[in-house]
Amino acid sequence: MAVKEMYAIAPQWKTPSPCDAQAPTEIEFRNVGKAFAAKGQSQAPFAIRGVNFQIRRGEVVSIIGPSGCGKSTILNMGSGLYRPSEGEVLVGGERVVGPVPKVAFMLQKDLLMPWRSIRRNVELGLEIQGRAASDRKVIAQDLLNRCHLQGFADHYPFQLSGGMRQRAALARTLAIDPQVLFLDEPFSALDAQTKMILQQDLARMLFEEKKTALFITHDLVEAIALSDRLLVMSARPGTIIEEIEIDLPHRDNPLERRKLPEIGPLAGRLMDLLHVGADHELH
Ligand code: ADP
Ligand code: MG
Repeated sequence: MAVKEMYAIAPQWKTPSPCDAQAPTEIEFRNVGKAFAAKGQSQAPFAIRGVNFQIRRGEVVSIIGPSGCGKSTILNMGSGLYRPSEGEVLVGGERVVGPVPKVAFMLQKDLLMPWRSIRRNVELGLEIQGRAASDRKVIAQDLLNRCHLQGFADHYPFQLSGGMRQRAALARTLAIDPQVLFLDEPFSALDAQTKMILQQDLARMLFEEKKTALFITHDLVEAIALSDRLLVMSARPGTIIEEIEIDLPHRDNPLERRKLPEIGPLAGRLMDLLHVGADHELH
């Protein structure tokens, strides 16, 4: 049975997502390819090719795919760090040709500045925007509270655990109030429990503030727990081979969503699509 049909028999489980079908398109990739020059090759080989997708305002979409298939390349193009070799990338209906003010990017590495206190790290984007010191302080304190870092504003990054540093990085990402978030495996270096708690905070904030997010993870259950929809990529040259709607409740509460019995079959389907285990000796 197709996944959509499986969920169609349980209509009471409509996803409580802030994103409705009429919401305008926020992120769009039109036939995007990216080739990187390689030593000794006259023609640059394509890392990704023929990538097409649209993400509506308020939607949370995850990309999953084998290592090296071009997931980070997609985010780098969405946030204006790389230019596509062919096709075009649009955010908010405008072609991306450089950094876009309403976009924020969060990486696996927290990239906090070690010489700044946590509060001043969170204020960084606001300083660049030229916001007044009094405003910055109020915004930073509010975010630190919401990211459960109250009491740590005057600490320095080295004094915090990995999970707390990643919370601070999340607070800094949200401080500029971006409409669109690109998140590249932000929790992959964390232990399983810390990761689930951070996912919970992220999911709630994305939901309450109706943010649009494109999330990369290699954790299949994480992708299902957080998303309205998944884009599954093939190996290099990466392209999207399947789109899966996650028609499950609790997009604002991944801890609850993780407990649903549908999670196992969905993760199994993703493993099949990604051929997990197929080409490897299992030890
Ligand atoms: P993923 O995030 O899915 O693991 P990446 O997007 O990082 O994959 O990389 C996809 C492919 O593109 C890889 O083969 C990688 O080596 C290549 N690549 C990515 N960025 C660059 C770059 N700046 N220069 C050259 N090759 C790159
Ligand atoms: Mg990557």
